[in-house]
Amino acid sequence: MRVLVVEDEHKIANSIKKGLEQEGWAVDVAYDGQEGFDLAISENYEVIVLDLMLPKMDGMEVCKKLREKGVHIPVLMLTAKGRVEDRVEGLNAGADDYLPKPFAFTELLARIRALSRRPKNGVKTVLEVEDLSLDTINYETKRKGKKIKLSKKEFSLLEYMMRNKGRVLSKDNIINSVWDYEANILPNTVEVFVGNLRKKIDKGIKRSEKLIQTVRGFGYKIGGGK
Ligand code: CA
Repeated sequence: MRVLVVEDEHKIANSIKKGLEQEGWAVDVAYDGQEGFDLAISENYEVIVLDLMLPKMDGMEVCKKLREKGVHIPVLMLTAKGRVEDRVEGLNAGADDYLPKPFAFTELLARIRALSRRPKNGVKTVLEVEDLSLDTINYETKRKGKKIKLSKKEFSLLEYMMRNKGRVLSKDNIINSVWDYEANILPNTVEVFVGNLRKKIDKGIKRSEKLIQTVRGFGYKIGGGK
């Protein structure tokens, strides 16, 4: 899962980034509204955490412009103001939820999770491809009923592939959805991660039941037949 944090207070922005990364999320940070808007329309995010008071373009305007552009990524608005009218204005601008500062990180996390699971995004919490299942709430992966231990990055990679089951995903698709902007991931790294994932998912499984396929010259795919 990939999150965009738009917050001009570096300390807050960096602590949110650190906290979310510990949960296995990929996080990009923008320090002003314009930069946030530009990233939001060009990259793939599950959720945007958007501060209200921002230089260049405030959070309300960023949100309004995104909705006008047809970008419907869920937005969690952060603000120092707790007034009812600000809250209403934020929601009217197209924000999906609202969190007054200061907040507890656990609450921020719970709200981001709730937004990322909203059914309107078609986001399921338990994904299945044949006898492989992945529970995105409890971070549990099973194949043929047996638990599989994955690193957080492997989990994110598998989640992305399973959400797109049957589709051929290029290494670029994978890099853009699983890693953040600054990660500087090379296609070779994707090969290594897919290789490790394959060992865990398809190890000891009959050839005909192997789930992760390499589509030569294009990328990878999970499920959906050969
Ligand atoms: Ca601010």
